[in-house]
Amino acid sequence: MEDSLTWNFLTVGNYSVKSGYETALDLKKNVFMGTKAQGESSNRDRMKKVSKSIWELPCQGKIKDFIWKCMHDIVPVNDVLVNRRISCDVLCPLCKSDRESTLHLLVQCPFAQVIWRISPLGLAVGINQGDLMISWWDSLLERWKGIKENKKIWAVVGTIIWRIWLCRNNMVFNSKSGNWMWHVD
Ligand SMILES: [Zn+2]
Repeated sequence: MEDSLTWNFLTVGNYSVKSGYETALDLKKNVFMGTKAQGESSNRDRMKKVSKSIWELPCQGKIKDFIWKCMHDIVPVNDVLVNRRISCDVLCPLCKSDRESTLHLLVQCPFAQVIWRISPLGLAVGINQGDLMISWWDSLLERWKGIKENKKIWAVVGTIIWRIWLCRNNMVFNSKSGNWMWHVD
C-alpha cells in the first residue's frame, strides 16, 4: 500500500478547506479551553493553599476570618462598596490618593508600605505584587517557606493586617489617625 497523507480529523480521510478550517477552530477552542481549565485548576489549588495557610495562622479567629474575607474581596472597603452601588468616597481614607481596594489598603497604600517596612519583618511591599490579595499572600508563603521562625513571622503578618484595618476604621468612623502599637495579639 502506498503511503498517503491523510487528514485524521475527517473520517473520509480527504482534506477539504472546510474541514481544515473547522479543525483549526476546534483546535483553537480546545487549546483555549485547555489553558482555561488549567488556569482554573491552578487558581483553585492556590486558593486551597492560601485558605489552609490562613486557618493555620497563629492569630485570633477574628483576624483569620478577616484575612479570609480579604482574599475573597468581601471586606467593605470603599472600592467594594462603590462597586455595590453604595454611595461613598472611593478614595483610600489613609492616603486619599487612590481607590481603596483591599490590596491598596493593606499592601499598596503608602501608609501600609511604611508599616510593613518599619515592622519587625522589614518587608518592602507595594509594587510588583500582582493585582490580587491572593497573589501577594502566595508570594509571602513562598518567601517564608521552611523558615524556622515561620510562626512568629505569620503572627506579625496577621497583627499588621488587623491593625491597618483598625487604623482605617478609626480614621473613617472617628476621624482619628489611630495609634500604632507593636505588640502581637
Ligand atoms: Zn491609601
